[in-house]
Amino acid sequence: MNELIRDVCYLAAAASFILALKWLSAVPTARRGVLIGVAGMVLAVSGTLIQKEIVEYKWIVIAFVLGTVVGVPLANIPMTAVPQRTALSHAFGALAAALVGTAEYYLKATKFTHFELSALALEVVLGFLTFTASLMAFGKLQELIPTRPITYKNQNIVNLGVLAAAIICSVLLVLDPTKSYLFPIIAGLALTFGVMLIVPIGGADMPTVISLLNSYAGLAASAMGFVLDNKLLIIAGALDGASGLILSIIMCKAMNRSFTNVLFGAFGQVQTASSGEVEQRTVRSATAEEAASFLEAASSVMVIPGYGMAVAQAQHKVRELFDVLQKKGVEMRFAIHPVAGRMPGHMNVLLAEADIPYDKLLEMEDANSDLPQVDVALVIGANDVTNPAARHDKNSPIYGMPIIDVDKARTVMVIKRSMNPGFAGVENELYFEPQTLMLFGDAKSFVSDLVKELSGGGGH
Ligand code: NDP
Repeated sequence: MNELIRDVCYLAAAASFILALKWLSAVPTARRGVLIGVAGMVLAVSGTLIQKEIVEYKWIVIAFVLGTVVGVPLANIPMTAVPQRTALSHAFGALAAALVGTAEYYLKATKFTHFELSALALEVVLGFLTFTASLMAFGKLQELIPTRPITYKNQNIVNLGVLAAAIICSVLLVLDPTKSYLFPIIAGLALTFGVMLIVPIGGADMPTVISLLNSYAGLAASAMGFVLDNKLLIIAGALDGASGLILSIIMCKAMNRSFTNVLFGAFGQVQTASSGEVEQRTVRSATAEEAASFLEAASSVMVIPGYGMAVAQAQHKVRELFDVLQKKGVEMRFAIHPVAGRMPGHMNVLLAEADIPYDKLLEMEDANSDLPQVDVALVIGANDVTNPAARHDKNSPIYGMPIIDVDKARTVMVIKRSMNPGFAGVENELYFEPQTLMLFGDAKSFVSDLVKELSGGGGH
């Protein structure tokens, strides 16, 4: 009877996970997607807890309490810290898979078939390497360790050598499972490879790498499903593995980079100004009052939001600006770059939170075809995604990344606090263009000042 209930729970959980992924892929249904994902996980855990193999619940209860103590604060972090939070949860998931694999090996190594042993080796290698790689990724994003890529000669060969050694030891162990001395060597090599994999990757590429690690953690869980003969783990792990991989591909495409370039290209080194000439260039800045007069005189405004809008939590003020301009008959739309912010869909989520109508959000291609007719392009806390160097400067690390062609608008206004570079660490030539006005300040307070000016409350 227990088995029947478990199987029904697992079936319903698998269906819930598939629906969750489907609904999560569109903003209007995303909340529903989260809820059904949670329901699926409750079913999966409940189905597992009623298994008769469980002899006592004491340790499960302790683990549950500990997990809750760690998990609840983890869920309450600002949205801008989601990449590092995701890295930590992958680290835990991957460690769990690796430890289950370790226990299974030491408990029943000789009882496994070659296929099951291969799955176990894959689970352990992927689990341990994802564990240390995710911790490293977390450290880089949280700036606990240097974010710049650290490289040395023949690094890729050394790294691939460590991975190859782990694979060779795994093959030997699968062929003869009694060679138990190989197991700690495999675990050690995988843990080391995880660290070495992340060392040469810069902070700017970390979100893409985290998505790839998500995929590895999913594959480790799926391999665990084969070892434990648990179909739900196979399905859930495969969904996780595939979605993580697809997301990494989408992110790489949006940055016009290849996987190999992300993993081995040492991108994100902060560039020092290449010549004195760059440093001497001047920019034009404007006050909120001046900027408001440009907005008021415009018939079309395109907002380009970026990471700074997220940091400042300016989205609700942006909504107020939208309302006040709409009342004045000025059309305001939003150009969404696929990698603006720090995670895919970051801007869509923030703007949806502020109830900006979806039909005002334009994808990059559509925005670019309209921008030459736009009176004012208002950049709010975005930087790299607007840098024209990506189009023509072959020496720029962001060369080839598709950008929002902000410089084609008649007037460009950029809200940011300073001349500091964005995530990729490169200077933005847009700021030196003759049609560009810099609006220095925090995004939330500057937009708030704009709203005051436009509503006639500017005090002048
Ligand atoms: P950037 O990181 O290029 O720039 C953000 C700008 O916001 C900074 O220059 C900063 O300037 C400004 N800023 C920060 N805080 C505030 C504030 N409180 N008020 C006003 N401005 C502020 O962001 P973009 O969104 O343009 O580009 C995203 C970057 O992240 C790209 O390089 C992309 O490749 C990368 N990336 C994104 C991923 C994604 O999925 N979204 C994934 C992988 C990488 P200042 O300090 O002067 O205020």
